[in-house]
Amino acid sequence: MSKPQPLLEVRDLKKHFHLGSGKTLKAVDGLNFAIERGETFGLVGESGCGKSTAGRTIIRLYEATGGEVLFNGENVHGLRGRKQQEFRRHMQMVFQDPYASLNPRMTVGNIIAEGIDIHGLYTGKQRKARVSELLQAVGLNEEHANRFPHEFSGGQRQRIGIARALAIEPQFIIADEPISALDVSVQAQVVNLFKKLQKERGLTYLFIAHDLAMVKHISDRIGVMYLGKLVEVTTAEELYANPLHPYTQSLLSAIPIPDPEVERTRERIILQGEIPSPLNPPSGCPFRTRCPMAMPECAAVMPEFKEVKPGHFTACHLY
Ligand code: SF4
Repeated sequence: MSKPQPLLEVRDLKKHFHLGSGKTLKAVDGLNFAIERGETFGLVGESGCGKSTAGRTIIRLYEATGGEVLFNGENVHGLRGRKQQEFRRHMQMVFQDPYASLNPRMTVGNIIAEGIDIHGLYTGKQRKARVSELLQAVGLNEEHANRFPHEFSGGQRQRIGIARALAIEPQFIIADEPISALDVSVQAQVVNLFKKLQKERGLTYLFIAHDLAMVKHISDRIGVMYLGKLVEVTTAEELYANPLHPYTQSLLSAIPIPDPEVERTRERIILQGEIPSPLNPPSGCPFRTRCPMAMPECAAVMPEFKEVKPGHFTACHLY
């Protein structure tokens, strides 16, 4: 039997920004991955690695410099007119800062119903009922529809952002650091809400975060990015048990382990130096200036991103 078509396929996706005086910032430089229906794909990397730009290019807030984004087998960046409008219904985004992304002068009800109004889905009583249903689905209640964003806590505002994204029944949600701005105590609640909604509505997620601890409990598979490129992709279980790329190993070693005995004896990999500027990336392997395992060939040849175990991809000369 042939494999079902993934919901989303990213092929050699590039987003370069031309900054003048001949300078080019290669924020996203050749990403390849696919996301199956109902799956959560975690995309992780330090700030400036290009993960948010990747999300914004996939949903077409930015036009791609090169490559393709196939959604249900169709190239998103080639869509125009009615087809483009239809695509916008199926893919929605939840942003990092729920306060900045909610219009302070609009009531929560009108914020949530914005997509419903744009796509002309419901009016009058039906619209009101839909807003109430969405508020309840994200753990708020219908009275909240008449209030304004400043009357809510950070966690509640993120729930409003999620309700807004769900309003037009998308199949796919890109969550761009949705829990990074929240208190640690609230982060787990919002992750649990994402999981509950996925189960109830059969949603597919691209979940972007800056550390591996944040995506651990939600991702089926994880991609690790460094300087605009993927350096490792595999299942969440395999990544935490057998990280291959030295960068992934260093990210994992930074996560504290709840067992004090293990925590006391284990070795931390402290990366030297800052992430290099994507305006002037190192030759060969982009990670070589910070890699504890770097060899002479790492400066000369860019490692190929390849499958080194079934379903486990990495870009490193050690494999
Ligand atoms: Fe380190 Fe070389 Fe592997 Fe790059 S290719 S991660 S520098 S060992």
